[in-house]
Amino acid sequence: MGILYVVATPIGNLKDITLRALEILKEVDFIACEDTRQTKKLLDRYKIKKPQVSYHQHTRIQKIDYIVNQIAQGKSCALVSDAGTPCISDPGRVLVTRAYDAGVKVVPIPGPSALISAASISGLPVDKFIFLGFPPHKKGRRKFFEQIRDNKYTVILYESPYRILKTLGQLRDVVGDRRIVVCRELTKMFEIVYRGSLNEVINQLEKEKIKGEFVVVVEGKK
Ligand code: SAM
Repeated sequence: MGILYVVATPIGNLKDITLRALEILKEVDFIACEDTRQTKKLLDRYKIKKPQVSYHQHTRIQKIDYIVNQIAQGKSCALVSDAGTPCISDPGRVLVTRAYDAGVKVVPIPGPSALISAASISGLPVDKFIFLGFPPHKKGRRKFFEQIRDNKYTVILYESPYRILKTLGQLRDVVGDRRIVVCRELTKMFEIVYRGSLNEVINQLEKEKIKGEFVVVVEGKK
């Protein structure tokens, strides 16, 4: 029986990878990755040559079972996503559960996650917090913001550059002018952290070209 390693990879800066993650990527028989081109950049940087199979949100169950069978027959596999920790708003969960079902050992190789990086620098209380992932685009969107309005813990969410201003605007309409921290392009060349009230941060962002990836940390209800 092989092992399924769930390996965290950098969220931008390719140096943000653990020694153990590199060791595992070198050791395994194959890598299951979200986008082979994206993972190749990391592998090339560390001169790792390894067979890759693609694994994404729409991967059919037959292919997932094929991967699990390979592991059950003795091959070891590293599951990686494009950036950060697999399964955290990323593909991977079905592979992990099918692996458990087949009696395969699943081992975490911890490392970067945009969620934890943002929490750590937010300056907001994060002894306890709620992570809500991406806001829904349509159904349940209003409820999503109401959930933030009504809870006392810090809330963390992900958003794309195309929707960040719309999301912050709607968030302000529902929760009022709360304190937030918006982390953009963490660990990358244009990393920037906006802190302030929702109004202040929106005003700031409106003056800028909206590019990059965002994590939003929202203060809980007082
Ligand atoms: N599993 C990943 C993790 O552990 O960080 C998250 C994957 S999710 C599909 C991608 C989202 O994470 C982006 O849309 C953005 O909200 C956030 N993200 C990823 N990298 C980031 C970065 N360098 N700076 C800010 N946010 C980032």
